[in-house]
Parts: sequence; C-alpha cells; structure tokens
Amino acid sequence: MDKNIRIAIIGGGPAGLGAGMYLEKKGYENYVIFEKTDHVGGKCHSPTHNGKRYEMGAIMGVPSYYAVHDMEVFGGVTHDGPRLHRTYRLPNGKPDTRFDKKLFNIPHLLKLKKQIKKFGEILETKYKGYDICGHRGVSEGRYEGYAVSEAREPVSGVNPNLKDLALPFKKFVEMNGVPLVSEIWVQPFTSFGYGYFDEIPAAYVLKYLDFQTMMNFVNVNLWTWKDGTQSIYEAVNKKLKNPARLNSAITKIVRGDKVTITVNGKEEVFDKLIITAPLQVGTINNPVAQGLDSYLDVTDEERALFSKIDYERYHTMAYITAPENYPEASFYVVDNMTPETLGHGMVFYMRWGNEPDQPLVSYVLRKHKNPGETVEAYKARPELEYEATKNTVLEDIAQLGIPPIKEGGKDKIIYEFQAYYFPHVFSEDYANGWYEKVEAMQGKNNTYYAGEIMSFGDMDETVEYSHDLVERFF
Ligand SMILES: Cc1cc2nc3c(=O)[nH]c(=O)nc-3n(C[C@H](O)[C@H](O)[C@H](O)COP(=O)(O)OP(=O)(O)OC[C@H]3O[C@@H](n4cnc5c(N)ncnc54)[C@H](O)[C@@H]3O)c2cc1C
Repeated sequence: MDKNIRIAIIGGGPAGLGAGMYLEKKGYENYVIFEKTDHVGGKCHSPTHNGKRYEMGAIMGVPSYYAVHDMEVFGGVTHDGPRLHRTYRLPNGKPDTRFDKKLFNIPHLLKLKKQIKKFGEILETKYKGYDICGHRGVSEGRYEGYAVSEAREPVSGVNPNLKDLALPFKKFVEMNGVPLVSEIWVQPFTSFGYGYFDEIPAAYVLKYLDFQTMMNFVNVNLWTWKDGTQSIYEAVNKKLKNPARLNSAITKIVRGDKVTITVNGKEEVFDKLIITAPLQVGTINNPVAQGLDSYLDVTDEERALFSKIDYERYHTMAYITAPENYPEASFYVVDNMTPETLGHGMVFYMRWGNEPDQPLVSYVLRKHKNPGETVEAYKARPELEYEATKNTVLEDIAQLGIPPIKEGGKDKIIYEFQAYYFPHVFSEDYANGWYEKVEAMQGKNNTYYAGEIMSFGDMDETVEYSHDLVERFF
C-alpha cells in the first residue's frame, strides 16, 4: 500500500493509539487519530487524588502483555506501580479462607489443583491455537494470527476442536471434565466485569485468561503503573508524530472512493478508515457510548452483524472511608460473583498500601443473560437501574465494614465511571461465524474494524489486534 495514504483512526484508547503507533513504525505517517473526549486512554482512566493517581478503569497487566510492552517502550514508561495484594472476604466482611494456600491439603482443593493441571494440558493439545489474538477461523476449526510469545511469530493451522470455544465457558469446562477450574477463572473474569460463565463463550474467557495469564494471576505476578494505566497511553500519544486530536466531535462519515469525515463542523477527506470506537448500532444505554449508525453510513451487512453485539453494564465507584476502616489489602468477594448476586460489589481495590484518605474502588455488574433465554428476550429485558445498584453496593460496603465517610451530610464518593464494557457476541452468533463474516468485511468501503470486540476487552488484546490489523493490511 502507498505509504502516503491518509488514514483516519476513530478513538484514542489503547486500540486507536496502538494503530497509530504500528502504522508509524511501518512508515505510514499520514494518519489522524480522532478522540471525542479531552483525554486519551479510553477505559484506561487514572484520575488524581491527593497528588496520586488511582484507577477507575484498567488496573493491571501480566508479563505476557507483549503489545502493551511495545507501547511502554515506545512511550518510555515501565510497569513501576505498587505491587498488588489480594485477600478474600465473605459478604459479611469476615475473611473467606477457601482460597488460602495453607489449606491446600483439603480434598476439594487437591481435586481443584488436579483439574487445573489437566485443563492446562487440554488447552495446549486438544485446543492448540486457542490463545492467539483475534477469532479468525475459530468457528470453522482453524486458527490464524500471532503467537503469544515475545517474537509473536505468525502461526496458523487447522484444529476442528476449536469450534467448542463457541460454547459458554461453563459448558466448555464441564464437557472437558474440569468444572472446578471455574472457581479460579471466575475471580479475574466476572469480578472484572466480563460477565458470567453460563453466558459468555469460552473463546473470550480464554482469549484473556489463557493458561499462562491465569497462572500469573494465581501467583500475583502482575504489572501495575505508578501513574496509572492511562499514563502508558499519554506517554505514547506524546511520542506519536501525530498526537490524537482531542475533543473531535464526529457527526458524519460517508464512504465512497474516499472517506469524508465531518468533524467539529468541517469536512476532511481520507483514503482509509480504522474504527476502534464501539461498532454496536442502535441506541446504547450508556452515557459515554453512541451507536456507530449515529454518524457512519452503515451498510446493510454492517447493520446486520453489528446489531448482534452486546456489552456489559459495568461500573466503578471511588470513595473515601475512615482511616481505621481501610482493609489490609484489596479483596475479592467471591460469593458476589454469581448471577444470583448480580448488582452486588465483587471486588474492592485500593492501590497505596494502608495509606488513609486514598480512594477505595468498588466494581459491579448490572445485567446477565439467563441460560436458555433468547438474545432478543434478554435485550428486551431491562437492566438493573444504575442508582438502585449503587445503593446496593453502598449497603454491601456498610456490611463489609468499609462505608464512605460523610462530608456535608453526604457519602464521600469522589468518582463514578460507567464504562461501555466488553462488547461481545453470544454463543449462537459466535458458532454461526460472526467473526468470519466481520473479518471478510475488513477493507471493504476502505474501512477496517479494530478495538475490543475484534479480540477481547483487555489492554493487550486490543493493542495486539491493532498490530495484527496493520501487519495484515498495511
Ligand atoms: C473498570 C475496568 C477495569 C479494567 N481492568 C483492566 C485490567 O486490569 N487490565 C486490562 O488489560 N484491561 C482492563 N480493562 C479493559 C481495558 O481498559 C479495555 O479493554 C481497553 O481500554 C480497550 O481499548 P479500546 O481502545 O478498544 O477501547 P477504549 O479504551 O474504550 O477506547 C475507545 C476510545 O474511543 C473514543 N471514542 C468512542 N467513540 C468515539 C467517536 N465517535 N469519535 C471519537 N472517539 C470516540 C473513546 O472516548 C475512547 O477514548 C478494564 C476496563 C475497565 C472499565
């Protein structure tokens, strides 16, 4: 492709900045990144309190975050954040000892350990190719992409077993005789807002929590950033030849031989378009997301596919508790990670040891697709109201003994964040080749699709997909 072509990238989150960085590395310097807010980073959002940054969005990485590492190197930052500690509590605030390593001789835990080992072996053999970035070919029993390794060499192959990945994770592990592994996989999955195992296809669960990554979680071998995950993308943006254009209000995109974008009331013409903003069409019940069809001339094919996308209603709330109430470390409430406890706080995160007056952040989900429910019935059913869920979480934190202090008679809540989170499709659409159809559209109408839906909603998968896209098409 001619290196002088003019490329528009929609979105200044990890995927959009990643696309800019990889294009630039390949010699394409005529790109513009349009970001609608006044900052870069998207859901890597790290506001400041008392001179220190805390996390309202992404928190951590693992040593196999090779694409994020590319961005660290490019931006000149490193994972220099506070070490993560993790404890477990019951909803009443008492310690939850089920995952205590000292109790590993209890028969259940021995059984669990055995199943984890077996699962690792099954994934490497029966499901060879399960962990590469993106979903190309999976529903047809193939894999194609880049290996999860430092060299990230291109790999491809045929493996009909991969079709099983369309099944909800719960069914997938039952079918493979390792149901207990859910007890471990659920912790960084459901609590981090990615939904429940009876609804989410195994392909997504394992894209994020491949065996290597899961073991890093188990061993708390995790990366954080002193100035927050947002600082990675701020640093990258500063080094790019064309930093993101902030406060870009795109009202119209028309595609033909060229791509004409109306932004802040003016028309600009491009040769190619890379979309990392939400692809979902129609009304999205979220304060920060808008349907793609509100500004793009979507084709019938795009509309048919992108109307199948669903997302998680996930929100975080940062508040201040009294100095004597700060927990000894961040903690999970595993009992609140079930569909029956939807709307309850699942994890409580604080970054700075036992320092007082630091934000404590709660994490909660508000919608679940019941087993057997059609996608249409699920979508028509209302989600839990935001304010009602917030009140439930406030009751939870009172029970846990970490309530907000009062200021002016009100709870001292310092930040609330409602993300348009983890776009995905459900099992039936996955099995029917949703990804094959979207991948076949790449490049049509001078348009390319990237961002969370194309692989998975974490920092590394989104940046890696941008890498994959640039390598394949530019
Ligand atoms: C609470 C929470 C915890 C998380 N924890 C982790 C974690 O620990 N580790 C991890 O790896 N990941 C984590 N994630 C996920 C991670 O943040 C996302 O997967 C990642 O940010 C996705 O990158 P993206 O660029 O695809 O999308 P986003 O980050 O959503 O960025 C999209 C960007 O596009 C912009 N945009 C949208 N529409 C338009 C438009 N029409 N015009 C112009 N710009 C537009 C948005 O403003 C945004 O800046 C977490 C996320 C949240 C919310």
